[in-house]
Amino acid sequence: MDTPPFSELGLPDALLAAIETLGYERPSPIQAMSIPPALLGKDLVGLSATGSGKTAAFTLPALAKLDVKQGYPQVLILCPTRELAVQVCEEVHRLGAKMTGLHATPVYGGAPIDRQLRALRSGAQLVVGTPGRLLDHLRRGSFDASRIKMAILDEADRMLDMGFKDEMDELLAALPPDRQTLFFSATMNPGVSRLIQKFGNSPEVIQIEQKARTVSTVEQSYFEVRQRSKVEVLSRILDMNPPRLGIVFCNTKRSVDECTEDLVNRGYAADRLHGDITQQMRERVLKRFREGAVEILVATDVAARGLDIEEIDIVFNYDLPTDPEDYVHRIGRTGRAGRSGRAVSFVYGREIYRMQSIERYTRSVVKRERIPSVEQVEGRRADLIFDDLKERLETGKFDNYQDNIDRLLEQGHTPTDIAGALVTMIREASGREGSAIEEDREPERRERREAPRRDERPQRDDRGPQRDDRPQRDERGPRHDGPRDLIPNEPGMTRLFLSLGKTHGVMAKEIVGMLYREAGLPDGCLGRITLFPKHSLVDVPEQFVGQVIDRTRTARLRGRPFRMDVDRGPA
Ligand code: AMP
Repeated sequence: MDTPPFSELGLPDALLAAIETLGYERPSPIQAMSIPPALLGKDLVGLSATGSGKTAAFTLPALAKLDVKQGYPQVLILCPTRELAVQVCEEVHRLGAKMTGLHATPVYGGAPIDRQLRALRSGAQLVVGTPGRLLDHLRRGSFDASRIKMAILDEADRMLDMGFKDEMDELLAALPPDRQTLFFSATMNPGVSRLIQKFGNSPEVIQIEQKARTVSTVEQSYFEVRQRSKVEVLSRILDMNPPRLGIVFCNTKRSVDECTEDLVNRGYAADRLHGDITQQMRERVLKRFREGAVEILVATDVAARGLDIEEIDIVFNYDLPTDPEDYVHRIGRTGRAGRSGRAVSFVYGREIYRMQSIERYTRSVVKRERIPSVEQVEGRRADLIFDDLKERLETGKFDNYQDNIDRLLEQGHTPTDIAGALVTMIREASGREGSAIEEDREPERRERREAPRRDERPQRDDRGPQRDDRPQRDERGPRHDGPRDLIPNEPGMTRLFLSLGKTHGVMAKEIVGMLYREAGLPDGCLGRITLFPKHSLVDVPEQFVGQVIDRTRTARLRGRPFRMDVDRGPA
């Protein structure tokens, strides 16, 4: 979707300057559609998923409305979880970096209350928090809601699913009636629409159209890569299959600059395109790219618009796009005119959810690939040199250096030694030294996790007395207060709490079956399952936690509904 530049949305200079520093080149669709009406003071309902840039869509107008000279709460942002509250507050600080006097604080359950009390008392103007703890502060009088100008509900559907309805009602009812309210939710359901009816003031509904698109001619895959390992992984992939031409897409100008510099330093014929590059320079870069003098073009979405070059055989999503439509545009740069094309995305941590929404949007499967090891890259490079040698010998495509070779032979060197020395020279000249990355150790770890299948293990016995594990919950997820599994979960795994156990007749293999069926998990990925009388604990790879919680909401076990959430251990 074409969006206007940030400078046309009506945002103050301090925010535009921060956006520039962050390198966001243009607003995402939800930002372009939400910011202008929010700045005009309208109530909004934004239907948009994580990864769409929704945090900045509400944070920017909230910051624009804030009076940094006043030391009392003016903006309230409600989030379902502590993690999200912290993340949103970080984004507030990033976007508000140029606003002198800005004071924002996160407030959530499960953390000592004293520090939060101090932050609230010392003049916080923007408060981001989970409903339970915020209500606690409201009741204690430590959170003054009387001068809130704007309230934002982030992931309203999830807050309701987590049972925060009463807390949200009480909090919203305590705010001034003339405040502005922005509701953000991934889905619309009766609970969310009741909230909007009760607390909204004729809100404008903003929905990002998601037309399904197919990109069937392109082979799509993704790699799990940390930010700091991206250049090394990119180099390894390029070395495994040197493309004729390739494009590396980044989300920000800064990322383009850094990536290009790293590639050039590693000896690749790379150049860049982004919004700050002059038209004249742009044309020069494109010409060199078309001619093949530049093999790797690093670009932002805007800069690569309209690029129509047939020979591009690989596209990288160095940063995963916020808008699935950008993904389609990006990978549409390859696989043109009946050629085969490849699209490779780098994904890490929570970005896996964004990858999943891209898969839904494009109705295609993006397969996960293993990062090639330094040894594999070395081996491949040697193969490529030998293929090239073989072809030259077979086709006679080489010059005659008879004199030089004769001299070497006369000095007593064998033809085999001479050839060996030449190949070594070629390898040294073309070789980039790979560096070790943390990801190199991970396949090993994953294999350990996968074998043997946990569902084939015997169930472990309960320890300790029976207890009442009545469902309880606070901002950190369900709490259980009886005997608990004292064995820490493995790295990369998250322990989930399931509100059914042995007394409900549930067996480990049924939990396993239900999870694979309902949550669509890859085979063998589940960790330990421990059954207690009234609840169970299930270890799940952390990247699937959201998927498991979301997709099992309406599922049943032994005919019973249940709750599943991140386990927070005994009270
Ligand atoms: P969110 O949907 O708010 O979780 O945002 C997803 C990611 O996109 C975050 O890492 C943001 O920093 C990033 N982001 C948000 N807006 C933009 C933008 N206009 N351009 C580039 N990146 C953005």
